[in-house]
Amino acid sequence: MTKWVYRFGDGQAEGRARDHEVLGGKGANLAEMCALGLPVPPGLTIVSDACNTYYKNGRHIEDQVKAEVRAGIAAIEAITGRRFGSVSQPLLLSVRSGARVSMPGMMDTVLNLGLNDETVQALGHDAGDARFAWDSYRRFIQMYADVVMGLGNDAFEEILEDEKAKLGHEFDTELSASEWQHIVSLYKKLIEEELEQEFPQDPEVQLWGAVGAVFASWMSARAVTYRHLHNIPEGWGTAINIQAMVFGNLGNASATGVAFTRNPSTGERALYGEFLVNAQGEDVVAGIRTPQSITEEGRISSGSEKPSMEKLMPEAFRELCRICTELEIHYRDMQDIEFTIERGKLWMLQTRSAKRSTRAAMKIAVDMVDEGVITEDEAVLRIEPSSLDQLLHPTIDPRVTRQVIGSGLPASPGAATGAIVFTAEEAVEAESEGRKVILLRVETSPEDIHGMHAAEGILTTRGGMTSHAAVVARGMGIPCVVGAGTMRIDVRNERLLGVGVTLKKGDIITIDGSAGQVLKGEVPMIQPALSGDFGRIMGWADRARRMTVRTNADTPADALAARSFGAEGIGLCRTEHMFFEGERIHVMREMILAVDEKGRRVALDKLLPMQRLDFTGLFTVMHGLPVTIRLLDPPLHEFLPKTDDEVAEVAFAMGMEASVLRQRVDALHEFNPMLGHRGCRLAISYPEIVEMQARAIFEAAVAAAKETGAAVVPEIMVPLVGLRTELDYVKARIDEVAGAVMNEAGMKIDYLVGTMIELPRAALRAHVIAEAAEFFSFGTNDLTQTTFGISRDDASAFIPTYQRKGIIEHDPFISLDFDGVGELISIAAERGRRTRNDMKLGICGEHGGDPASIRFCETIGLDYVSCSPFRVPIARLAAAQAVIAGSLEDVRRGPKDLRASV
Ligand code: ADP
Ligand code: MG
Ligand code: MG
Repeated sequence: MTKWVYRFGDGQAEGRARDHEVLGGKGANLAEMCALGLPVPPGLTIVSDACNTYYKNGRHIEDQVKAEVRAGIAAIEAITGRRFGSVSQPLLLSVRSGARVSMPGMMDTVLNLGLNDETVQALGHDAGDARFAWDSYRRFIQMYADVVMGLGNDAFEEILEDEKAKLGHEFDTELSASEWQHIVSLYKKLIEEELEQEFPQDPEVQLWGAVGAVFASWMSARAVTYRHLHNIPEGWGTAINIQAMVFGNLGNASATGVAFTRNPSTGERALYGEFLVNAQGEDVVAGIRTPQSITEEGRISSGSEKPSMEKLMPEAFRELCRICTELEIHYRDMQDIEFTIERGKLWMLQTRSAKRSTRAAMKIAVDMVDEGVITEDEAVLRIEPSSLDQLLHPTIDPRVTRQVIGSGLPASPGAATGAIVFTAEEAVEAESEGRKVILLRVETSPEDIHGMHAAEGILTTRGGMTSHAAVVARGMGIPCVVGAGTMRIDVRNERLLGVGVTLKKGDIITIDGSAGQVLKGEVPMIQPALSGDFGRIMGWADRARRMTVRTNADTPADALAARSFGAEGIGLCRTEHMFFEGERIHVMREMILAVDEKGRRVALDKLLPMQRLDFTGLFTVMHGLPVTIRLLDPPLHEFLPKTDDEVAEVAFAMGMEASVLRQRVDALHEFNPMLGHRGCRLAISYPEIVEMQARAIFEAAVAAAKETGAAVVPEIMVPLVGLRTELDYVKARIDEVAGAVMNEAGMKIDYLVGTMIELPRAALRAHVIAEAAEFFSFGTNDLTQTTFGISRDDASAFIPTYQRKGIIEHDPFISLDFDGVGELISIAAERGRRTRNDMKLGICGEHGGDPASIRFCETIGLDYVSCSPFRVPIARLAAAQAVIAGSLEDVRRGPKDLRASV
C-alpha cells in the first residue's frame, strides 16, 4: 500500500533528503532539517505520486490521501497546541508545491489557510494584534482567489492601491486593523461579483481547494513550458507540503527573508541575503518594498541606509549564521534558504543547493577543497562543463572609458551588447532573425522566460539580487543587471530614459553584469584569463582525465588560441579553406578547370609552396604536438562560381569564354554532393592533388622540425573511405612522396596514415581497413548524416518538427545519437583494435565538444576528442568528469539529455 503522507515536526521526520524523488526537493529538505533538530514549523508532505493519481482520477483527490492528510494535520495540532478551524486558537497552514527539481516561480503556494470571518477574530485576540490578523486574512483571500479560484491578482492590487491612495499611505505596513478589515470586505465583494460565489469559509473546503490547485498548477502552461525548456519529465509530478504557519508579519520584531550561504555571483564566503520587517512570504522577492540587507557588510556595500538584520535582530541573526554553517557542512554545498522570524524567533522554511554563476561555482568548489569539505575530484564534478562558456565569454576591456547611462545590481556576470527590446516576444523574434538584443523589463516574470532565453542580456529597473530576473539569468548564464533604479523604462512609448540620454527601441546598449552597469553603444571587449580558481579546477581535471583533448584548427591563429585553452594537439586540420584565400582560389580554379593531368600539375606546382607555408606555420605553433591533416575533402564545384554574373567575372579574369566556363561548371554539378565526388574519391581520380598535399606536409615537417627543434609526426587523414582498397591506393601515393622527400632532405620523418570513419561501411569493415590505417578518427558529422540518411544542410526543414512531435528528443547533429551512430562507433573501435591493438582512436566531429558525447567517448575507450578552440576547456572538464563519474550505465541512465532510446 502506498504511503501517501510523510510527517515532520518536533525534531523528527519520516523522510530524509535522499527521498527527494518521493517527497520533492522542498519536502525532502524540510524533513532533513527537522531531523537535524533545526527550527522547522511542523508539517507533512503529500508524495509526488499523488499528483499522478490526482490526474488519473480526473482531477480528484483520493480518499486515502485525504485520510492520511487529516491524520497528519492532527499531529501538527498536537505539536502546536492549536486546532485547524478552531475559533479560539486556530491553526493556520501553508500549502506549498515542491517538485523533484526546483522550478522557480512556476508553481503555486497558498499561505494563511484556515482563516475565515470567525478565525480571523480569534487569531487577532490570541496574538493580541488585530492588524496582523486582518493583514493575514487579506493576504489569504488574495492568494486563494488567485491560485484556487483563478481570479488573478490585478483587481486586488487595484483595490489596495486605491485604498492606500485614499488613506494617504505609502506602504502596506502603515494600514491599521480596521483599514485592512475594510479591504477584506472589498475583496470578498469582488469575488462575489466576479464569480457569483462566496469566498469559502469552511477550512476543510479551503484545504482541498488549495491541494487540488497546487496539483493542477503542475499542468499550468508556464510550468509545462518550463519543463520543456529544462527537460523535466511530466511524470514526476509535484509533491505538496502542508505546514503550520509562522508569521513574519507579526509586528516589528517579525520578518521574512531569503539568503545564500555564500555570494551566488562571486562565490565569496559570506552570508548574503535580504529580508523585510513585518512582512510575509514572497514580499521580499516581489519588490513591494525595497528589501534590507541581512549583514552589515552587505548593507554598506549596497549603500543602503536601512538597518541590516545583523543590527536590528542580532540574536536571530546569530542563530541564522549558525544554522547556515551547519547546513553547509551537512549538505557539503552552498545553500539557498528561506526563513521567517516570528517575534524574534527564527524559523527555517526551505533549503536547497543554491544556483550560482560559473565564477562563483569555481570559487566555491576550490574554497571547499581548501576548507576540507570536499575532495578535488568532487570539485571537478561540481562544475557543469557547458557553463564554462560563461567564463570564456568576453568582458569589457578595462581600458575603455565607460559611458555609463545607468546602474543597478550586478545580478549575473559577463558583458553583452545588443539592440534594446521591450517585450519577450520581440526578443524571441530577434533571435530567430539572428539579431542580438538586450531585453528590458521593469521586472521579469515566468511569462518572460522565452524572451530571456533569446536575449544576449537582461536589464530590469526593479528588483534585487534574488528577483526573478536575477535568479533565472544566473541559471541561464546570461549577463543581467537588475534594479537599475536610475533608469526608467517607458514601455508604452518604447523608450529607455537613462542618465542624460533617451534611447528608443533598436538602439544599441552594452550591459556589464559583473559591475551592474549600463553603457551606451557597443564597447570593446577582452578575453578572460584562465587562471586562479579556473586554473586549479582545470589542473585537477587534467589529472583525472584519461582522454587527450585536441582541437579542430585550420590556421596558426586558431591553433594558438586552442593551445592557450589547453589543446594537446590538432585532431582535424581541414585543408580546403586554405584554397579559398586571396590569390589561391584562382590557382585552384586553374587546377580544377585544366583539361588534363599536365595542366593540373602546372597549377598544383603553384599551390605547393603556399600549402607548405600553411603547414609549416601550423607545425611550428604546435611545437611537436600531434597534428592530423585531412586531405582535400569537398567536391570540386564548391570552388567554382555559381551565378551567371560570377561565371562571367571569373571567365574574364581567367581569359576564357563564359560559355566554356559555364559548361565546365555544369559538368561538375552533382545531384547529391554530400554523397558525390568528394573525399578519397577525388584523390583516386586526381592522385596529383594528394601528391602535392603530401609533399607540402612532409616538406613543412622538415622545415618546422629544423625551426623548433621538436620532431613533427604528421598524421595524414584520408577522408570518406568505405573500402580498404581506396585507402591502399591513396596511402601508396603518400608513402611514395614521403620516401622522395626523406631522400631529398636526407632525414627520416615519422608519420602516420589513417582514415576518417564516416561511412557505415567503413565502421563495419573496420578490422579490414585497420590493416592499412594506422589511426581512425570518427567524423561524426558525416557519420551521422550517412547513418540516418539525413543531409545536415536540409535537416532544419524537419528536425524541429520531429522534436516538437516527440519523434526524436535531440538533434543528432548536436548531441551524438548513442544508440545508432554510437553503436557504429563502438563496432568500429572494437574491430579496428582487434586488427591493430595500439590503434589511435579519436573523434573530430562537432560532437567532440559536447559533454554528453564526450562521456560516451570515454566509455568506449577513445584516445582523444577534438573540438573547436573555444570548447577545449569544456572538453577537458567533461573528459575528466567522465572518468570520475562514469560507467556506460550512468551515461545511458543518468543525465537528462540521454534518456530516450529509440
Ligand atoms: P516557492 O517554491 O515559490 O518558493 P514556497 O512554498 O517556498 O514557494 O513558499 C513561498 C514563501 O512562502 C516562503 O519562502 C515563505 O516565505 C512563505 N511560507 C511558506 N510556508 C510558510 C509557513 N509555513 N510559514 C510562513 N511562511 C511560509
Ligand atoms: Mg513562489
Ligand atoms: Mg520557496
